[in-house]
Amino acid sequence: MSKKLFYNLLAVLVLASLVLSACGTAAATEAPAGDAPAADKLLVGISMPTKSSTRWISDGESMVKEFEAMGYDTDLQFADNDIPNQLAQIENMVTKGAKVLVIAAIDGTTLSDVLQKAHDSGAIVISYDRLITKTANVDYYATFDNFGVGVIQGTQLLEGLGLKPGEKAPAGVGPFNVELFGGSPDDTNAFYFYDGAMSVIQPFIDDGTIVIQSGQMGMDKVGTLRWLAATAQARMDNLLSAFYTDKKVDGVLSPYDGLSIGILSSLKGVGYCTPELPCPVVTGQDAEVASVKSIIAGEQRYTVFKDTRVLAKQAAKMADQALKGETVEINDTTTYDNLVKVVPSYLLIPISIDINNYQKELVDSGYIKAEDLK
Ligand code: BGC
Repeated sequence: MSKKLFYNLLAVLVLASLVLSACGTAAATEAPAGDAPAADKLLVGISMPTKSSTRWISDGESMVKEFEAMGYDTDLQFADNDIPNQLAQIENMVTKGAKVLVIAAIDGTTLSDVLQKAHDSGAIVISYDRLITKTANVDYYATFDNFGVGVIQGTQLLEGLGLKPGEKAPAGVGPFNVELFGGSPDDTNAFYFYDGAMSVIQPFIDDGTIVIQSGQMGMDKVGTLRWLAATAQARMDNLLSAFYTDKKVDGVLSPYDGLSIGILSSLKGVGYCTPELPCPVVTGQDAEVASVKSIIAGEQRYTVFKDTRVLAKQAAKMADQALKGETVEINDTTTYDNLVKVVPSYLLIPISIDINNYQKELVDSGYIKAEDLK
């Protein structure tokens, strides 16, 4: 190769490498606007249990909005109701340096190890909606008054049957056949819901106004693992064929809209929800679109609205206050014993929903779009 050709080639190579490195610099300076977190923003890990129920999607999205508006970066993950998956996702958030973890646990008892790591790294842990148990490494709990949710559900069931909590049944009213469903036994909320409901229903069972034909009572008998609609539907099928071939069901206590929809399909399968055999009174929770439609159609009778936008805002506010070393807003320091400590909590107020107020509470408030209910 001639000297001239050699220097020409060298010049081309140097130029090419300059162009490439300039591109690289441009890419690097653009990065923070893309996926990588900006160096000065603190990271918040948000771990939600599943996308199979719309409420958790709204919770997650609202939290991203709230935290980002306050200047944080967020990492939102849904765990597909799979415990190892949730553990891995949280572990990853800790590794990425999350300074706050907001967690709605699938099984509240399973997080002790990963939360020890989170604590050791200095992260603040907020238990979201569901209580995390068996660990000291949970700083605050943002939720609704869960016993209160149960009281609403029990009261709805009574009201649907023409009864009032704390009052004797009017003469000639009842007896009514009722079946009870509980939520997932690995979620402490399920016990609060059940106990709250039974606090108003039990006196009517005791005086014979309400009869549980199956005799199945107590969370060990009526719980529904992982809140699965198919499990509730199968149990309702069994109850109907074992105890109701010559009797009718008048009411079903259901703690969650997903289960209510499963229970109603089972009932419809044997001829309920027709002019000859009306739907029993069926309760629910979460104001999910399918259930609100069912309420409008005169099938599911009630649900409980827990505004996830407000809960997300509250959780974000508590995390922000904790990070800044400010006083964290709580309103309950006695109820939520997680078996290691009583977790300082903020409880929001749930709202009873039926055909008469869904428009005002859910549609007018912007929680559900009117067109989604068509
Ligand atoms: C929540 C309920 C929800 C249920 C099933 C509970 O922990 O508090 O709002 O219906 O989980 O997802």
